[in-house]
Amino acid sequence: MMSDRYAVIGNPIGHTKSPLIHGFFAQETGQDMSYGAIEGPVEPASGFSDSVKRFIAAGGRGMNVTAPFKLAAFAMSDERSERAQLSGAVNAMKFEGGRIIAENFDGVGLVRDIEVNLHQPMVGKRVLILGAGGAARGALLPFVAARPAELVVANRHVDKARALVEQVARSNTAGGSLTACGYADLAALGRFDLVINATSASLTGQLPPVPASVFSAGGSAYELAYGKGLTPFLRLARDAGVESIADGVGMLVEQAAEAFAWWRGVRPETRALIERLTVPLD
Ligand code: NDP
Repeated sequence: MMSDRYAVIGNPIGHTKSPLIHGFFAQETGQDMSYGAIEGPVEPASGFSDSVKRFIAAGGRGMNVTAPFKLAAFAMSDERSERAQLSGAVNAMKFEGGRIIAENFDGVGLVRDIEVNLHQPMVGKRVLILGAGGAARGALLPFVAARPAELVVANRHVDKARALVEQVARSNTAGGSLTACGYADLAALGRFDLVINATSASLTGQLPPVPASVFSAGGSAYELAYGKGLTPFLRLARDAGVESIADGVGMLVEQAAEAFAWWRGVRPETRALIERLTVPLD
């Protein structure tokens, strides 16, 4: 019998660490499976769904989805979890009985990394998220569920942050305050216990226009990008006296572990792998 097939699909895909991560998990848990990487075509528009259908026809059991296909994966799915619906984006799919079931584990992976691995529970804290793109959208529902006292989403295009907050407010049964603002408003908002850079600014070595006054000595800062060392955002945080700084490598491994558990029914250990993949911040 052939082992169960999984893959990550994206474009470009050469940089992906997912086959290494899932290969490690499979070995650790003794699962008989293979995990490859597929470069999905950006053109024509149907190229992505055709690739997924070919993979299913060849016996594929599930896929991870990365840029730029998270929205296309959402569109072609038959069933979507609540967090996938809210984010409008999908990063994991399961193929069952001719149906495509879709999930988004980016946010839960991020929250787990912060709360479990970095020992920074968010309950009762003041938390600031920079950015309102795909990653921030995926994170918001799990963040609300972690019950911070206050959650602020800041974005360059404020209307995007406002729309996101409005959408999540309907599911905000935890009762903490949830608001949106622009960067210019941040100076008046005081210090936050945890500041998360969910913008893509670090990918081009840029700093979102965040004032140093948002950081608190003894607080934490988290950068979603990973493997980039001390980004301008993390440097600003460190210079402001922030005690705990981290990049997104733990989030990457934790979202993978969530998908693996969802597919295989067994949750792998993540600590050793996170250590192995961590690039020192400086
Ligand atoms: P998107 O393209 O969906 O969103 C980009 C966001 O960044 C927008 O809010 C945009 O603001 C903002 N932005 C971009 N450049 C700047 C800048 N110079 N100053 C201020 N804001 C800026 O990206 P994603 O949400 O998919 O990804 C965001 C980051 O998260 C990336 O670094 C990505 O690598 C990382 N990521 C990490 C993962 C992990 O597992 N560790 C998983 C997923 C993502 P505006 O709307 O105003 O244009």
